[in-house]
Amino acid sequence: VTSQLQDSLRARLGPGGVLAGDDVGQRYEADATRQQPLRPPFVVRPSSTEELSFVLRACHEVAQPVAVQGGLTGLCGGATPHAGEIAISLERLSGVEGIDPASMTMTVRAGTPLEKVQEAAAAAGFLFPLDLGARGSCTIGGNISTNAGGNEVIRYGMARALVLGLEAVLADGTVVSSMNRMLKNNAGFDLKQLFIGTEGTLGIITRAVLRIFPAPLSAQTAMCSAADLAHVIRLLQHLRRRLAGGLSSFEVMWPDYVDFISARIEGLRVPFAADGSLFVLIEHEGTQPDSDPAMFEAVLGDALQEGIIRDAAIARSEREAAEFWRLRDGIGDVHREIARAAHFDISVPLGSLQAMIDAVKGDLAANFGDGVTQLTFGHLGDGNLHLVALSDPADQERVFELVYTRVGEFDGSISAEHGIGTVKRRYLHLSRSASEIELMRRLKKTLDPKAILNPGRVIP
Ligand SMILES: Cc1cc2nc3c(=O)[nH]c(=O)nc-3n(C[C@H](O)[C@H](O)[C@H](O)COP(=O)(O)OP(=O)(O)OC[C@H]3O[C@@H](n4cnc5c(N)ncnc54)[C@H](O)[C@@H]3O)c2cc1C
Repeated sequence: VTSQLQDSLRARLGPGGVLAGDDVGQRYEADATRQQPLRPPFVVRPSSTEELSFVLRACHEVAQPVAVQGGLTGLCGGATPHAGEIAISLERLSGVEGIDPASMTMTVRAGTPLEKVQEAAAAAGFLFPLDLGARGSCTIGGNISTNAGGNEVIRYGMARALVLGLEAVLADGTVVSSMNRMLKNNAGFDLKQLFIGTEGTLGIITRAVLRIFPAPLSAQTAMCSAADLAHVIRLLQHLRRRLAGGLSSFEVMWPDYVDFISARIEGLRVPFAADGSLFVLIEHEGTQPDSDPAMFEAVLGDALQEGIIRDAAIARSEREAAEFWRLRDGIGDVHREIARAAHFDISVPLGSLQAMIDAVKGDLAANFGDGVTQLTFGHLGDGNLHLVALSDPADQERVFELVYTRVGEFDGSISAEHGIGTVKRRYLHLSRSASEIELMRRLKKTLDPKAILNPGRVIP
């Protein structure tokens, strides 16, 4: 069946539309987890919605399962092919179709790299505010299907909040076009939500209408240090009150993270001495270039005076701001070294976060002594904590179990932004009720009765 299918797809998609044999590079074997890589027998690369519809209709007819691939930067195994699956890559379905300044929207194809979307918006004088470390490689379709978060969620929301319309192809090849361009549209079900954050299990996204915003007229960046998480939360409240809606990033790094990253990135300058403080990277976007810098400085000055923070360093140039971000983005630079670690992107109500971290540290120490190095950091304005636990690979399953059990106890989420994929599937019940999981199963059965789209992902 596979070779017949391959022939018919090749005939329809033409040269470059199907890669087989040695042309299937390592790139298609796994997402950024690089866990259990598997070379698919062939990779289909449609360059239009119509081609993708043809491909899925053909796969549906013979019940051929597929792994859906965007930029392959995902961190939960979702795009990694399983045995018996072919891969469908969106890489040729790429490009910005247009920008509508009046309705402040842009229309893009799903395989467009996020950075290209940002650049196109900037060239037209706008901001597309979704931003994450993998911006150069991840695709907007992957971002939407994982409901990606990133650095500016505190101001603009996650990918879901930035999507007005979508086009997707269902498992049987049906094209569902819902390319709404209005902020308000309550005419019936909001069908695009079926495809946002569902990780390619209910349909393949082909195009999207995105919200864009006026580019900020001024930006300020600072690094602060605070004694503990309670002070960090006070700082967040202080900035929310004083900077109104202008606070666009609030990234927190614990000493374990700062020490690990600064020891590995050559030439990285850390603005404060390592004294056990937590570091907070803050960004403010404003509309008053003349007065914003002084206002920002005064707000941080007050935080110092009120004893909320220990120290603050304000970036005096774009270069200095980039240097501060290097510490936060440094986790991408050490990606290889920590690839085999247990990665957590969890969220817990902020008021319970310290208790949860203490409980996890206690559990890991009780089970493994000093055997687990932890890196703790996160987009804390959104209650989102990243935790990397470098342990003996043999202990990893136990580490997952300990951490996720605590997350469940503290009413948190086992995935704040990266998704479930295969890596977290077995723990979904710790964040979702039995009736929620049953409804996910029913939706999946209805939209993909032969289970050909990313089977085995997300739903236990
Ligand atoms: C250095 C680094 C930093 C990161 N930082 C963040 C961060 O701050 N916030 C965050 O949320 N994530 C982050 N990620 C994770 C990752 O970049 C995101 O999950 C991203 O949205 C994945 O996009 P992608 O195109 O690479 O998708 P892929 O990895 O190719 O796929 C991810 C999932 O989406 C599905 N999929 C892909 N394209 C489509 C489509 N067109 N239609 C339907 N389903 C599709 C796949 O089947 C898979 O299940 C980071 C990753 C790295 C490596």
